Amino acid sequence: MPEPMSPARLLELDQQHVWHPYGPMPGRNRPLLVESAAGVRLQLAEPVAGVSELIDGMASWWSAIHGYNHPVLNEAAHSQLGRMSHVMFGGLTHEPAIRLATKLVEITPEPLQHVFLADSGSVSVEVAIKMCLQYWRSAGKPAKQRLLTWRGGYHGDTWQPMSVCDPDGGMHHIWQGALPRQVFADQPPAGFDAEPDAAYVRELHELIALHADELAAVIVEPVVQNAGGMRFHSPGYLRALRQACDAYGVLLIFDEIATGFGRTGALFAADHANVAPDVMCVGKAITGGYLTLAAALCTTEVAQGISGGDVPVLAHGPTFMGNPLATAVANASIDLLLSHDWQAEVKRIETGLIDGLSEAATLPGVASVRVLGAIGAIQLERPLDEARMAAASDAAIRSGVWLRPFRDLIYTMPPYITGDQDLARITAAMCAATRASEG
Ligand SMILES: *Cc1c(COP(=O)(O)O)cnc(C)c1O
Repeated sequence: MPEPMSPARLLELDQQHVWHPYGPMPGRNRPLLVESAAGVRLQLAEPVAGVSELIDGMASWWSAIHGYNHPVLNEAAHSQLGRMSHVMFGGLTHEPAIRLATKLVEITPEPLQHVFLADSGSVSVEVAIKMCLQYWRSAGKPAKQRLLTWRGGYHGDTWQPMSVCDPDGGMHHIWQGALPRQVFADQPPAGFDAEPDAAYVRELHELIALHADELAAVIVEPVVQNAGGMRFHSPGYLRALRQACDAYGVLLIFDEIATGFGRTGALFAADHANVAPDVMCVGKAITGGYLTLAAALCTTEVAQGISGGDVPVLAHGPTFMGNPLATAVANASIDLLLSHDWQAEVKRIETGLIDGLSEAATLPGVASVRVLGAIGAIQLERPLDEARMAAASDAAIRSGVWLRPFRDLIYTMPPYITGDQDLARITAAMCAATRASEG
């Protein structure tokens, strides 16, 4: 056993040596030291502002849909661990990966038949893009190498995904000169329930038609733009994209990494539109937040196109592709989700968020409040600077809730198992954070 270390010592080492997401080195903001987690609660190693337990309003970046330390997922991991935690996927295969791929094919839109297992969301987006470029190369149209997306999106932090993130407001604008130059449409008009705007649909069609010769694919987050700003749009725009892509010979990628597995009230956001993409990425909630895993699914046409070309293979193969432990837990997580009335659960959370956030709309400094499925967001009139961000986070912690506001947003994507009382505490903490950021 290693020597025990005090929380203070651990945090000191953390600051000196450990890089955190989107952070500087050494770290400026002291992270909270988590000792364990169960259900929807994070247990801190030492109390902060007198609070030692936090209700998790973030579900660990939207992935821990069943909460922490779940007996069913624990059992799946233990039982797989006793067999093998990993074997290479080149030349070898195993039941957990085969079961998972088959399950994903069954629950995603019908035309998606083939599954590439990747080790993170960003990598699955890289693979999806590679699939599309290679499809056109194999079809004798190597000039089709660019991508089209709408502004306000987020697709990950590796190179190709960064090139289709929002070019202005996003985190990656400093790389504009170095990244592949993609084609951007305006941000889709807001509102899940709004009628599709005819002028915007025309803009999409015209832009896709104009660039058809050089476009490999259109890539979007369906229905919800997540890390780009928690904005919802009409599923009608997905139907418009499908029509335009078919009309002008362009492939369509849906990035369902954040929206998949029920988050928006449909199992996949594409289901709201009844539209099937040519390639779909899933990740985040796929293992219930236990282990890193993602997948890119494609149609038989895309798979055959690639495999019939002069380079008849997809040259991609992460070391930990198809990891048995991750795929075994993913199977358990998806089975657990589908074994109960998840739609009612998400609906219950949606209702709780609408009720709990109704007060927020009346608070000073609030531009809008939106809820869809198990997503609730308060958008402020101006972005949070560092001081207001800290005030908002501290207020949430004092309310016993873990939130991580960003830009002008105080939002939650809680685990689906969050009970009504805990949900009420999350929404109350969001309101308290909003007040503190304005105070
Ligand atoms: C989180 C996210 C990604 C990137 O996934 P990682 O696992 O963080 O690499 C890509 N697309 C969307 C929509 C996401 O929300």
